[in-house]
Amino acid sequence: MSIQVFGLPVSRGVAIGRAVLVASSRVDVAHYFIDAAETDAEIRRLREARDTVAAELEALQRDLPADAPSELSALLDVHLMLLHDDMLATATKQWIVGRRYNAEWALSAQLEVLARQFDEMEDEYLRERKADLEQVVEQMLRAMARRGAAGGPLAHQLLPGGRDGAGEDALVLVANDISPADMMQFKRSVFAGFVTDVGGKTSHTAIVARSLDIPAVVGAREASRIIRQDDWVVIDGDCGVVIVNPSPIVLEEYRFRQRQSELERVRLARLRHTPAVTLDGEPVELLANIELPSDAPAALEAGAVGVGLFRSEFLFMNRNGALPDEEEQVAAYTQAAQAMNGLPVTIRTVDIGADKPLERMTVNDLRHEHALNPALGLRAIRWSLAEPAMFRRQLRAILRASVHGRVRILIPMVAQLREIRQTLEAIERARAQLAEAGQATGDVQVGAMIEVPAAVLILPTILRHFDFVSIGTNDLIQYTLAVDRSDEAVAHCYDPWHPAVLQMLSTTIGMARAAGKEVCVCGEMAGDPAFTELLLGMGLRSFSMHPARIPLIKQRILRADTRKLAARLPAILAHEEPEQEARRLLQL
Ligand code: PEP
Ligand code: MG
Repeated sequence: MSIQVFGLPVSRGVAIGRAVLVASSRVDVAHYFIDAAETDAEIRRLREARDTVAAELEALQRDLPADAPSELSALLDVHLMLLHDDMLATATKQWIVGRRYNAEWALSAQLEVLARQFDEMEDEYLRERKADLEQVVEQMLRAMARRGAAGGPLAHQLLPGGRDGAGEDALVLVANDISPADMMQFKRSVFAGFVTDVGGKTSHTAIVARSLDIPAVVGAREASRIIRQDDWVVIDGDCGVVIVNPSPIVLEEYRFRQRQSELERVRLARLRHTPAVTLDGEPVELLANIELPSDAPAALEAGAVGVGLFRSEFLFMNRNGALPDEEEQVAAYTQAAQAMNGLPVTIRTVDIGADKPLERMTVNDLRHEHALNPALGLRAIRWSLAEPAMFRRQLRAILRASVHGRVRILIPMVAQLREIRQTLEAIERARAQLAEAGQATGDVQVGAMIEVPAAVLILPTILRHFDFVSIGTNDLIQYTLAVDRSDEAVAHCYDPWHPAVLQMLSTTIGMARAAGKEVCVCGEMAGDPAFTELLLGMGLRSFSMHPARIPLIKQRILRADTRKLAARLPAILAHEEPEQEARRLLQL
């Protein structure tokens, strides 16, 4: 039977494939594909984890005090029985051999299958054994975490070639949520689309999906409960619909749409070498947002004239417990600078916190405890200033890499003068230390992200202290409207067209230009064609977005006349429903 699930459309296009479910677990589980030659080693890890847990349970049973309730011993028996049951052992191996999942992923995938079977049992006693099974699996995952992965996620590139033998059908990923760290693992993987139960339009799952130009629907609430492993799934990333086991007619319709969008993509790619200049001759800078240095070639390929936002925090994820040291960071930033061939590369210092946490393993000796309200907590520049040694390493690395290209530093979530002073002092100290040690550095400009309303209100101060500003609309909307950008329950309140948001944008762009400082928009609004004309009308001439969006935005810029757009702006800003007025006046 075909079922439809509705969510938020966050990355356009149509994906058709078999569902791969990633279960959420209380233990951090890495998900990656292994090579064929590694299957035996992964099965061995599984066996070792089982033997370790069995030994622990047997020891517990042996050492039970004589007066312990008899239920306790019976419970340990149940756990031992579940541990050795074929439904866990043999079936988990199948995920490793057939799908090439790493052992932890295979185990949590099998847990997902079994948990559903338990849920459907008539007998209440048996149904309740699900919790025991979850505990046993959790113990095995912890045993594996203690021993460490064979190669670890970093050793795996997740290239399509790594899947030979795992079947020919396209795969789509279905999960309750996908952490930014996991999203990076999936970045080079085989998935044709993503569906999550939770998340908003600018949650990081959505952002990475857009950066991959892969169709995605988030906030689909029940999706991971309704969809089963291997179901056929259509993801309509334009409308936010997920169709499970579609009928042949529906499938054919979507295959047609898939072919159409591929043709459109090829057509737009022809604009790659066309300069982005409006009809009235205004040149516009189209920059790329990247997450890793290896994304730089795709940025050039798409026609970007630089990197407007390098989200450096992604270098700090999936690291099996160790943060990148100075040398590793120098290598990464140098790689990006060299790949961009003298074009500007704007490296944002780590924006850890809120919906981009470090894995629990990475944070042992760093202040990264669970925050009461992460979006308002120790995030971005606040976290960097609270971790001076970590921040110094990053600043030194960026400054050292700056001799290899046009590197710029961008500071996230600036809000207070005290932070500005401390940050600029830290940069100066790092520069002086390097000079003392005889290390060369380039001429590095320093910019501030405008992401909180306070930054807009103290813009003259910010413009005095920084060389340029970049507007992070994802956070600016979140903090202006008090709407958590990753919470699908309030996704309907997350409104880039809100008059307050547009006022902030217009003010920031206007004041920066008047002060003779460069201003860019690097949030998702920059890559959304619905806002191109409006932003041009506000005077914006620098847009930074995922490389995949550049051709589409360039097409709109080529057709725009900034004088006409600027003339219509006041009426739009003054209107209480700016979206409708903009659609009318700008003919969107
Ligand atoms: C933003 O907030 O708009 C932005 C570009 O930063 P991030 O999405 O990484 O928070
Ligand atoms: Mg931000």
